[in-house]
Amino acid sequence: MKDITPDNIKTFIGLIEEAEHPVVVTHAKPDGDAIGSSVAMFHFLNMCGKQDTYLVLNDNCPRFLTFIKDTVPADRLVIRDGNENEAMAHIAAADLMICLDFHAFHRTGALENAISESKARKILIDHHLDPDRTLYDISFSQNDISSASELLFWILMAAPQIGGKAEKLPSAAATALMTGMTTDTNNFGNSVYPSTLNMASDLLRAGVDRDMIIQKICQEHSESRLRLKGFILKDLMKVTEDGVAYMVLDKKAQYGYKMQEGDTEGFVNMPLSIADVRMSILAKEDNDRIRISIRSKKGTSANRCARLFFNGGGHENAAGGKLYMPVGEVEEYIARHAHIYMTEYEK
Ligand code: 5GP
Ligand code: MN
Repeated sequence: MKDITPDNIKTFIGLIEEAEHPVVVTHAKPDGDAIGSSVAMFHFLNMCGKQDTYLVLNDNCPRFLTFIKDTVPADRLVIRDGNENEAMAHIAAADLMICLDFHAFHRTGALENAISESKARKILIDHHLDPDRTLYDISFSQNDISSASELLFWILMAAPQIGGKAEKLPSAAATALMTGMTTDTNNFGNSVYPSTLNMASDLLRAGVDRDMIIQKICQEHSESRLRLKGFILKDLMKVTEDGVAYMVLDKKAQYGYKMQEGDTEGFVNMPLSIADVRMSILAKEDNDRIRISIRSKKGTSANRCARLFFNGGGHENAAGGKLYMPVGEVEEYIARHAHIYMTEYEK
């Protein structure tokens, strides 16, 4: 935890104490780690007496995360999608901005310009590669950690308000952090470090109800989501001789299976259960782009492939990006570039 030094914690707490209008932001299309870390940060700011705090999201979160989101009072949560003016006004009025789970402002979608133009002091808490630390008054950035939620957990544990006692965390923050870490590790399936298990153990001891979390994130989905999963595996998934699996989900299928935001969470991992598959790519048609998710097994770099061919990046084995082309051309593009990648860059 190289950035969690006494000096940095002092600066972090000092920035919070001096702030009157803090705003918490995270990446667009927020996942469990984005919602978990930003909601936990919101509750910690409240605990520090910062009642005039807002959480500004670019998009609403998937339904299975509402149990976390709903712990933030409705009048303190602003979703830009549908409340453009309000979201921009809160960002403009912020004197402290806490940025969670993203390495670059462009990952916040339509909030990007407002955040980069903001004169607020800024704090970064993130676990992606290569953030521009000069943009922040203080940055906590670490890649060898499970999640932004875990990084925030260790920062808060080092703060005098918590003093290393997880039971002192606001209970909604503790639950949010456990949820973010659990979803980003795929329920302890990847990116698990000794510190990750220590965090889980501390939070369980502090009374976090992990059974409830698992029920919310794994057992409350719709029937159509499970049928969509079956359709993808049976009809859409292609497996190449180079050990790449790919799936292209167009709008027609998304409507047909009543797909909601977050419904495909975890689907990109499924083909990695095949022995010969080293990398899996899921392409989803969105309004103005094709969204790409890539996962790889150890020894194959999803990050490099995303950077080279999909206008993106991410972590070594979990990355993403986007394509700008008609959905009808995506299969051919992926097949061709996956072949080039596996034969020319992964040899
Ligand atoms: P997901 O597949 O869950 O959407 O994204 C996995 C990871 O890939 C994210 O945590 C993020 O690090 C990265 N990622 C996803 N989309 C993009 C993108 O458009 N650009 C960059 N640089 N990284 C992305
Ligand atoms: Mn994350």
